[in-house]
Amino acid sequence: MGLGAVLGLALNWAGAEGMVDSGVVGTVAMLGKKVGDLFLRLLQMLVVPLIVSSLITGVTGMGDLRTLGAIGGRAIVFYLSTSFFAILTGIFVVNLIKPGEGAELALLEEGAAAGVVAQAPGGIGVVLWEQLESLIPKNPLAAATEGDMLPVIFFSLLIGVFIGIAEHRQGSADASVVRRFFSGLFDVMMEMTLFVVRFAPIGVFGFTLYAAAGKGPAAFQVLGWYVLSVFVALVIHATITLPGILRLFTGRSPIAYMRSMTTALVTAFSTASSNGTLPLTMQNAEEAGVRPHVTSFVLPLGATINMDGTALYEAVAVLFIAQVYGIDLTIAQQGLVALTALLASIGAAGIPHAGMVMMVVVLNAVGLPTSAVALILAVDRILDMCRTTVNVWSDSIAAAVVDAKE
Ligand code: ASP
Repeated sequence: MGLGAVLGLALNWAGAEGMVDSGVVGTVAMLGKKVGDLFLRLLQMLVVPLIVSSLITGVTGMGDLRTLGAIGGRAIVFYLSTSFFAILTGIFVVNLIKPGEGAELALLEEGAAAGVVAQAPGGIGVVLWEQLESLIPKNPLAAATEGDMLPVIFFSLLIGVFIGIAEHRQGSADASVVRRFFSGLFDVMMEMTLFVVRFAPIGVFGFTLYAAAGKGPAAFQVLGWYVLSVFVALVIHATITLPGILRLFTGRSPIAYMRSMTTALVTAFSTASSNGTLPLTMQNAEEAGVRPHVTSFVLPLGATINMDGTALYEAVAVLFIAQVYGIDLTIAQQGLVALTALLASIGAAGIPHAGMVMMVVVLNAVGLPTSAVALILAVDRILDMCRTTVNVWSDSIAAAVVDAKE
C-alpha cells in the first residue's frame, strides 16, 4: 500500500509539474486499477460458494435452532446499535466542524461531474418493503448468479435448517449426504481463499497506485473540511467506540485483534468493497480464534447489512450539503437524517460507491435536491475506502462479541 501511494503521488506531482506527460500518468493509474480489479475479481469469485457452503455448514453444525436464533438476534442488536453510535458521532462532528459553511457552492458545482446521479428509490416505506421482498429469491440460483447476497443468505439458512429437520424426522441418510457435500465444499473454498490471499499485496498496490496517481491531492482542496469531518468521525468510531465495545464484551485487546484482522482491513481499504473482502474477513477472524459457526453466519450477514462507516458517512454528507445550501436543519430533521442514514446503510450493497447511491434516500427525506450528490462525487473514492474499512472492522468486532456471548 505504501509503495503504491508513494509511487502514485510522485507520478501525480510530476504530471502536474509537466515533468511527465499527463497521458502517461493516466495510463499508469488505469493499469493500477486493472491489476487491482483482477484481484477483486478473484475475491468476488469466492464469495457465493464460500457464503453458501459456510452458512449451510454453520447452521447444520449448530444442532439446535435456538442457538441460531440467539446468534442472529445478538448480531442484529449489535449491528443496529453500533451503526447508530456511528451516526451520532458523525452528526456531532459535522455540527462541530461545520465544513459546509465556508464552502462556496459555485466552486463545488464547477468540480461536480454533471448528471451522474442515481434515481430516487422512493420513500422510506418503499425502501423497507423492497428490502423485505428482496430477501426472498424467486429463483435461488438466479440470485446466486447475480451475486444478490441477502436472498442467497436467506436461502442458505433455510437449506441448513431443513437438512437438520430431514435428518431428524426421517433419519434420512440422503440428507446427510447433502450436509457432508456442503461441508466438503466449505473446506475446498477455504483452501482456495488461502491461495487467493497470497495475491493481496499486488492487488492492494494496484488500487493504491490508481487512487494516488489518478486523483492526487487536488481533489481534496475544495472539499477539504468535508473530507476531514468524515475522516475524524470515522476515526473516533473506529478507535474509541468499537474497541471500547470489544474490550467490554470480550476482554480482548483491541490492538491485538486489529493486528489479526490486518489483511482484511487493508484489503477493505484498497478495494472499497466489504463483499469482496468477506473471504479474508472470515479467514482472519477464524485465525483470531472466533469459532467458525459464528463467523460463517455473522460475517456474511454483516458484510451485507452492517455498515457503520457508511451510515456515518451518509449523515455527515447530507448535513454538509444542507450547510452548503445554507439550510439550517432542526433537531427533528437531523433525527430524520439519522434514521434514514441507518436504513440507507442497511440497504447499501457491499460494493464500491454503493453508499453514495443510497444517499438519495436520505436527501429525499429532508427535502434536499438529490442532484447535490454530484457535489461530493470527486472525493467519494477516498471516503469510500475509509468507510469500508470501518464497515469491515465493525463486522469483525460483531463476530468476536457474538462469539464471546455464546
Ligand atoms: N463500499 C462500501 C462497502 O462495501 C459501501 C459504501 O459505498 O458505503 O462496505
